[in-house]
Amino acid sequence: MTAPFKQHLIDPEICIRCYTCEMTCPIEAITHDDTNVVVDPDKCDDCMACIPVCPTGSIDEWRVVETAYTLEEQFSWEELPAQAELSGGADAGKDAPVDDPVAALLAEAHSGVGGKPRAPASATKPQVNTYTIGKPVTAVVQGNYRLTAEGADTDIRHIILSFEGKPFPVLEGQTIGILPPGLDGAGKAHLPRLYSVSSPRDGERAGYHNVSLTVKRDEGGICSNYLCDLNKGDSVQVTGPFGSTFLMPEDPAARLLMICTGTGSAPMRAFTMHRQRAAAGGSGDMTMFFGARTPESLPYFGPLKKVPKSVLKQHLVFSRIEGTAKEYVQDRMMAEQDAVADLLADPATHIYICGLRGMEEGVEQALTNIAESIGQPWIALREVMREEGRYHVETY
Ligand code: NAP
Repeated sequence: MTAPFKQHLIDPEICIRCYTCEMTCPIEAITHDDTNVVVDPDKCDDCMACIPVCPTGSIDEWRVVETAYTLEEQFSWEELPAQAELSGGADAGKDAPVDDPVAALLAEAHSGVGGKPRAPASATKPQVNTYTIGKPVTAVVQGNYRLTAEGADTDIRHIILSFEGKPFPVLEGQTIGILPPGLDGAGKAHLPRLYSVSSPRDGERAGYHNVSLTVKRDEGGICSNYLCDLNKGDSVQVTGPFGSTFLMPEDPAARLLMICTGTGSAPMRAFTMHRQRAAAGGSGDMTMFFGARTPESLPYFGPLKKVPKSVLKQHLVFSRIEGTAKEYVQDRMMAEQDAVADLLADPATHIYICGLRGMEEGVEQALTNIAESIGQPWIALREVMREEGRYHVETY
């Protein structure tokens, strides 16, 4: 008989079929058919490159087996099989004793070896996957407000959803899935699209546990147009919540450096509101570099102006103001390099980067230059910060 080994699998109930894992896998071990995205057990070498890029966490599933599930079996699944009892006798839960070889294998799979992003040590433990594609929850629209000026070139909406008393525990930094109605070109139900919550954990309105989203209307976008056109009282099918690493530290002394573009500001709004509502007196400050084309197209421009400087140091950066040179967040970080260097040198600092994928390179370059100006090689510092759950990137 073969010794038990851990097999890497993908949860078909949670996966949104974005194929990012398939594009990331360096050895083409991930593949898909019309139904599921699956991992080839003959190819996968557990390198973990696909784990951090998955937006839902559906990629981080493991079973300890004596015979691997075949591709055909995985393609046929609507849900993951439970961990089978093996002759090793384990019930394979994450908390099972370590002298249990099956539990030890599963613990190894979940240990985060291989550069998996980590949550801040002081973060609250999030709930994930409460609602799935097969079992979504119905939310009701409480409001849909345009955030950008009428006539601005972008239509960004603030959409508030109520779960009408049904449990939907969500933390700042998590995402939820929206199931647009109707069918896709192949006649199948649409898969969920993910959006970051822009409200704090106790709700858009404190104590009401409603959730807000920040949604930009994309020309031809199925879900963004569906959401932006919703009216008060409409019902929406929701999955999630998702995400267990892009979370804020609960340590009141933690300092937050938030770098975002456009609707990537959604989690930063949630972080700021949570800190504002939490008891005052923490020593940790918040600094934000936020890029948009113009003030008219910067979501929450008006409300942001009302947040006191003692709570949030704001650097609002614009790329398309007529008669003014284009400025990106990374340019302003360089202009403010002493303040950024002070944050980088402080082990209490947590960095959050969210928005356009294209910004990553420029922001990394700015962080490299600034870290090196204080004698810290950025790659080494970033690794320490990642290991300590102090470095977080969510770009699309
Ligand atoms: P956008 O309006 O297209 O761009 C925002 C700003 O970023 C503009 O000033 C733009 O400048 C600038 N920019 C473009 N390339 C850049 C680069 N290489 N480095 C730095 N800045 C750059 O942004 P958006 O359409 O709102 O997109 C935000 C992104 O956030 C999307 O990819 C979205 O998927 C993602 N996101 C959304 C959510 C959500 O909950 N809705 C959550 C997380 C992430 P120019 O265009 O003038 O060059």
